[in-house]
Amino acid sequence: MEELKRTIKEKGKIVGTEIIKVDSFLNHQVDVELMDKIGIEFANKFRDKNITKVITIESSGIAPATMTAFHLKVPLLILKKSTSRILNDNTLQTKVHSFTKNIDYELTVSKEYIKEDDRILFIDDFLANGAAALGAKQLIDMKKAELIGIGIVIEKSFQDGRKKLEDGGLDVYSLARISKIENGEICFKD
Ligand code: 5GP
Repeated sequence: MEELKRTIKEKGKIVGTEIIKVDSFLNHQVDVELMDKIGIEFANKFRDKNITKVITIESSGIAPATMTAFHLKVPLLILKKSTSRILNDNTLQTKVHSFTKNIDYELTVSKEYIKEDDRILFIDDFLANGAAALGAKQLIDMKKAELIGIGIVIEKSFQDGRKKLEDGGLDVYSLARISKIENGEICFKD
């Protein structure tokens, strides 16, 4: 998606060797027109897959996931990040490692919001090592629903998330794929 790549190049800030901050248009302030175009792009890609629900993780995936759900005309489900294990009959949890914060959290969802016949599209802002997407898949698997596809706004292709997800048979669609960060410059895959 050319407009997205241009925006990342113009406004993305490189932190260390592997992290990109996109606070001015995605993670803190949100460019809603760009989000709308992102939502249309994901919706068009997965429109014929009979998606019944879009799932994301709080909080940075919410903006692109909202627009995707809006254009697919399905509900959006936001998985919560909890610092503690909640033991009750209504909740499902799985441990996920946060790449950016280098801590573990409990990815949490109320059982009632995932049904066995759901066909789910997972949307997130970044793909790094795939932990967030695989955590979401575990919760989806617990309810025997189906993860149909994964839509990523910014994939860091120099990390191994895509490989892990594809090795698990998952369909990954990324709008911008970063091949490397070199001499302070963000380089994209063709
Ligand atoms: P993964 O679980 O694939 O290792 O990492 C993806 C998650 O970590 C995303 O939900 C995203 O919020 C966060 N993340 C990973 N890499 C970056 C990055 O370079 N920049 C930002 N802003 N978030 C990232």
